[in-house]
Amino acid sequence: MLMILCPDQVAKSVLDIDLEDLADRGIKGLIVDLDNTLMGWDSEEMSAQVREWVAKARERGFSLCITSNALEERVRSVAHSLGIPAISNAVKPRKRPFKQALRLLGLAPEEAVVIGDQIFTDILGGNRVGVHTILIQPISKNELCTTKIMRRLERRVLAWLKRKGLLHGGRASAPGR
Ligand SMILES: [Mg+2]
Repeated sequence: MLMILCPDQVAKSVLDIDLEDLADRGIKGLIVDLDNTLMGWDSEEMSAQVREWVAKARERGFSLCITSNALEERVRSVAHSLGIPAISNAVKPRKRPFKQALRLLGLAPEEAVVIGDQIFTDILGGNRVGVHTILIQPISKNELCTTKIMRRLERRVLAWLKRKGLLHGGRASAPGR
């Protein structure tokens, strides 16, 4: 049952995701969470490194789409500044926003990855639609109090997955790390 919560891959941040590896696997699209994935939940600024990462991914030929549970105003301005489409008020882990993102990108589930910092929204939702999921560590410790409560449960799930040797990074790292 917990397997639906298991990310296919873990990374410290988006910057640590091996884009070449994804391209080699036939991945063409990145469905990316916004808060605490691309920028701090309580922040209005995206780091220069993350901006560069987005630009590099696009140059590399990936299509990107932000999928966020945050309100439209916040999501739209970030997406606009990056020049990529976005789905706000996504209500992840519902399947709909992920299906919408795939439609926007014109890709099949096996051609995309979902990247996010939360198991119960990003990973669960991505797994439900059969997209490769990558869990990254949240940028900031500041979060909604409901998220903080979910984090406790998340830590227990992650500890279990780790014990079972189910958490692993990209091509470079051995399974079980
Ligand atoms: Mg997030």
